[in-house]
Amino acid sequence: MAAQVKITFLGGLGEIGRNCATIEQDGQAVLIDCGLMFPTIDTPGVDLILPDFTYLRELGEKVVGCVLTHGHEDHTGGLSYLLRDLRFPIYGSELTLGLARNRIEEAGLLDRCSFEVVKDLERRRIGPFEVEFIPVTHSVPDSFALVFRTAQGVVMHSGDFKIDLTPVDSRVTDLSRIGAIAQNEGIRLLLGDSTNAEEAGHSESERVVGDALIEIFTKHRAGRIVVACFASHIHRIQQIADVAKMFDRKVFTLGRSMGKNVTLARKLGLLDISDDMIADIDEASKFPPERVCVISTGSQGEPLSALSLMAVGQNKRIDIGAGDLVVLSADAIPGNETAVGKVIDGLYRRGAKVVHPGNAKVHTSGHAKRDELRTLQAIAKPKAFVPVHGEYRHLYNHSKIAIEMGVDHDNVLLAQDGDSVILSESGIDFGEVVPAGYLYVDGIVGDVSHGMLRDRKVLSEEGVVVIFAAVDVSNNEVAVGPEIATKGFVPVDEKAELLEEIADLAREVLEKALAKDNFDKDSLARDLRSAVGKLISRQVRRKPMIVPIVTEV
Ligand SMILES: [Zn+2]
Ligand SMILES: [Zn+2]
Repeated sequence: MAAQVKITFLGGLGEIGRNCATIEQDGQAVLIDCGLMFPTIDTPGVDLILPDFTYLRELGEKVVGCVLTHGHEDHTGGLSYLLRDLRFPIYGSELTLGLARNRIEEAGLLDRCSFEVVKDLERRRIGPFEVEFIPVTHSVPDSFALVFRTAQGVVMHSGDFKIDLTPVDSRVTDLSRIGAIAQNEGIRLLLGDSTNAEEAGHSESERVVGDALIEIFTKHRAGRIVVACFASHIHRIQQIADVAKMFDRKVFTLGRSMGKNVTLARKLGLLDISDDMIADIDEASKFPPERVCVISTGSQGEPLSALSLMAVGQNKRIDIGAGDLVVLSADAIPGNETAVGKVIDGLYRRGAKVVHPGNAKVHTSGHAKRDELRTLQAIAKPKAFVPVHGEYRHLYNHSKIAIEMGVDHDNVLLAQDGDSVILSESGIDFGEVVPAGYLYVDGIVGDVSHGMLRDRKVLSEEGVVVIFAAVDVSNNEVAVGPEIATKGFVPVDEKAELLEEIADLAREVLEKALAKDNFDKDSLARDLRSAVGKLISRQVRRKPMIVPIVTEV
């Protein structure tokens, strides 16, 4: 009997972000991507969110390598944490590895991995599998779909992809190769990108953005032009630079990751900007406004990004104002709309003109829409299908597309984070469930617990009440206090009366506790929290955090 193949999903199935899965056979595992997720308003003070690595730690040395589909952080950003515990070689295109390397290097973990550059259509033996790297088009160059040749047939992972027949670098998603594999070997299981499974039609070619930029540059001849986009979107940067050249503007990069990525992509020959076309941002003020084109980070309204600082007049490099034009060449990722809106407001307030995807075609998605997903199904003709990379509604709609395109209903598995699926002689089925909760990272070290996040939400929404008292246990009396202090809680004029009530009640609780034979500080704290909590809830319908501090004198 041929060996079983197990695929375990550790992230990305139920959210956009922290994409991570393993594929196992014969006691060896290959990791498919290891990404992070950026925090939202629900996770105050959290820097980033990782997959739960418990299962990978258990696998330990059985993890023989990691294959990266592409260089986005939702696919590579977890490595600089996972490599603290494990070591393995990382496979990907030269650009993908260059982008992934930055974070790993910053974490000081370069000695725990090796970087194995693979070329388009190259095949590598990695553990028990032969892995083939199929070119796909996406919003970062040199992305791959992956084909694993396993004991249970071909397992294909689409990676993040779209079908752009006229991409900026002419490197199209290799549908003919996928078709040949489907024809000659058959595809047993397809794992497919679901991000745009709710979007009708076909995504537009990246070139559309180039045409829109030409129009914008034509209309705006006089002042400076600032274009913000993702720092990894090398094709977008190429188009901006090309249009800048057409209109005799010099290119200046702004933002740390923008500078780094432009340097890397130029070095790898993926970005064609000649030396005389680009200059240091500190030189920008020496050029007349109509000769300046700044390519900036901050398209998501990130608080400390170059663009956000510009919008509040605090960017040391560029003082934006009347006569300037700012182009936001990216959609706001769900959750970032408010921040982006604030940046747009700020720029208008400073007198600049603003162009964004809401009023011009300055962005196109890097993910396949419904017609493209149908095309992939028609060409790959998979026997079984698992939608990946999406929130539940995206996964659900993608599973419907697969069924509509002819995949047997029983062979479409709607898996979620923590699920595994097993391929065997008898078919495909769900396997064990593994831990796949969110791992919150705050600062460089230290994980944030759910309890801490709950506390932070209470503090930000309800405020805090501190009860301080000192007790003299030998005389069974309250020596100092109780004193009540509050932050972010109840308006000032109502405060005095309520604070007195709280103090009176706290004194009662303290005296009751002191009257008991064995004085216990922990249960006193509990009683204080409960009694004062009830009082406040009754009087003002709030649930602030209550912090009793009782010391003995
Ligand atoms: Zn991506
Ligand atoms: Zn992605």
